[in-house]
Amino acid sequence: MTTSSPRPSPPFHGGEGVKAKNNVKMHPTVNRRSPAMHPLAQLDQKFVWHPFTQMRDWLRREPIVIVAGQGAVLRDVKGREFLDANSSIWTNLHGHQHPKINAAIARQLKKISHSSALGFANEPASILAGRLVEKANAGIYDSRFTIDAPTEKSARKSQIENRKLEKVFFSDDGSTALEVALKLAYEYTRRTRGNKPPPRFLSLEGAYHGDTVGAVSLGHIDLFHRSFSGLLFKTDKVMSPYCYRCPFNRAKPERDDARNHRKCNWECVGLVEQKFSAQKKKGGAYAAFVFEPLMQGAAGMIPQPDGWLRRVTDIARGHGALLIADEVMTGFGRTNLKFKIQNSKPPLFACQHENVQPDFLCVAKGLTGGYLPMAATLTTQKVFAAFLGEYEEFKTFFHGHSFTGNQLGAVAALASLDILQTEKSVRQRAQLQRTLHEALQTLWPLPNVGDIRQAGLVAGIELVKDWRTRAPFALRERAGIRVCEAMAKRGVLTRPVGNVIVLMPPYCTTRAQLQKMVSALREAVEEVFADRR
Ligand code: PMP
Repeated sequence: MTTSSPRPSPPFHGGEGVKAKNNVKMHPTVNRRSPAMHPLAQLDQKFVWHPFTQMRDWLRREPIVIVAGQGAVLRDVKGREFLDANSSIWTNLHGHQHPKINAAIARQLKKISHSSALGFANEPASILAGRLVEKANAGIYDSRFTIDAPTEKSARKSQIENRKLEKVFFSDDGSTALEVALKLAYEYTRRTRGNKPPPRFLSLEGAYHGDTVGAVSLGHIDLFHRSFSGLLFKTDKVMSPYCYRCPFNRAKPERDDARNHRKCNWECVGLVEQKFSAQKKKGGAYAAFVFEPLMQGAAGMIPQPDGWLRRVTDIARGHGALLIADEVMTGFGRTNLKFKIQNSKPPLFACQHENVQPDFLCVAKGLTGGYLPMAATLTTQKVFAAFLGEYEEFKTFFHGHSFTGNQLGAVAALASLDILQTEKSVRQRAQLQRTLHEALQTLWPLPNVGDIRQAGLVAGIELVKDWRTRAPFALRERAGIRVCEAMAKRGVLTRPVGNVIVLMPPYCTTRAQLQKMVSALREAVEEVFADRR
């Protein structure tokens, strides 16, 4: 793998206009007097508005234009190759151009690409729904799965059956998966508890659940969400565990993951209990508790200490709240292979590591192996039943998207699930997780690395001014962005969350590729902060 090899570009299909060098058809309006910049980069700068991007910065330099991918490698229009160190914003599981997913999509293309789920069922979406239900319930048959009041065997069995996720509502992306859960939980609560007061939601500090208005309302990242406050409905937030910066954690480990040295009395859990009790006293118990299990992503890759999830979800259940698990990032084997459930197959969902069964399980990103935009919200028969009635009762769930249950997405998802279950993939993930852990340890000597946190195949490396003081960089210093730019020069692409560098390799990443990702990060930190030493 090279970072600047002059490999020929593959032919580019699409775009009307004049033919330029290396077979790229240029749009007639592209300025051809900037010979240094590739015509596709010019087209992008002229017409495309990028997400979560300060476009003034974007327009200052030539963007990397990706034209191909293979395994963990992305290739740009100039023939340069890069490692995809954040799995194309946390979506890709098995690498690009996986032959089994490619073949599944190609087979489906010969049948049909899309027909509407409004009025019709379709072949792969029906099969996928069944497979998702099977995977989502794997944890509840584990002996560690506890229920409200363990009694006789038959009562336990029926309680477990009640917790089963049995219905799948398809949509398009993470935001819509959350939007669906939110609306279903709202309406279910209204119908079962009565209209007043309106159902209220609790989520975590730093929560991010997507960019549509409902999902943003559940979020608590001021920088992203403040400007839309006039559009949003009010939700409450509660402290999430951030052991590295937790005011209750008396341990300040010198160079190790702060979770491993936690010295506290679970004050963060106590605050959750207080929040639920206070809300109940006000006369309107929370309708639902919304959380990312094991690791909060956009909050800054903030992992939860073992046992936290189980404790807080028990509290929420005790107060009659529904559980909405956002596994948009954590699902499909991303988080950890520590426990073994049933037939020694590791759990696919983060909740299952703590034997937590939510009432709503939201998945997207990796659902299709990161190939196509598709999402699903799984829920229980109990919730489903609240929407059943005669036509004229209008109990219907009035929500749906044009591409719901798309066939190409569904076959990609089925192929991805098949791959995930293979011995090879299980071994590969376990090995990659170990390699990632070992490689990350080499970053501790860097004075600007404050914390290194890993949950399975997700890692966040928090940059600080000095590890001894833990003083954070001001956002305007763009520390995370500058480090990622320096990594790109070294052939490794990722995107920071503020001052946290994210490493989230595709599962097919080799040991050598992983080591390259980590050494690019090390060199980048050394380069960017050289003047601070
Ligand atoms: N939930 C979580 C936990 C996410 O990380 C994201 C996206 N990063 C979303 C929801 C929203 O997903 P999407 O961008 O696909 O709408």
